[in-house]
Amino acid sequence: MNSLEEGSYALYMGERRLEPFSLERNVVGFCDRCESDLESLAYFRTESGWMVSARCKKDHLILMRYDLEWNWQGDQELQISAKKEGISTLSREMLEAVFTRAEIRDMQACEQGLPFVRQNLYRARSKYDRFEKLFGIRLNI
Ligand SMILES: [Zn+2]
Repeated sequence: MNSLEEGSYALYMGERRLEPFSLERNVVGFCDRCESDLESLAYFRTESGWMVSARCKKDHLILMRYDLEWNWQGDQELQISAKKEGISTLSREMLEAVFTRAEIRDMQACEQGLPFVRQNLYRARSKYDRFEKLFGIRLNI
């Protein structure tokens, strides 16, 4: 199943992650399921053409595939997935390689909307570059 990451609109196709080429909102067709307008969420460029993720007013999602000349190639299913850059999905070992216990605690609290110590979060944020270099993941807290 293809999934579109909430917030970033990155597209996951199996293990592959595609960053959006454009986040233009256009009416791109009609929903097969409810016949309301489909509005584009994000455009993607691949070796073989273009892909457009779109959503109708009733939250039906679809991934439309086109070739390089914008000839329609077919539709695929699409679902929204939760944002992956939060820390709740990361292992403790990864986090502890870069952040202190207090920083991790306050990043978690911030992510969950709980009270946190601002200074710990600032300190943690100053290490995001290092974390990204180590693990290839950009945190977003
Ligand atoms: Zn629909």
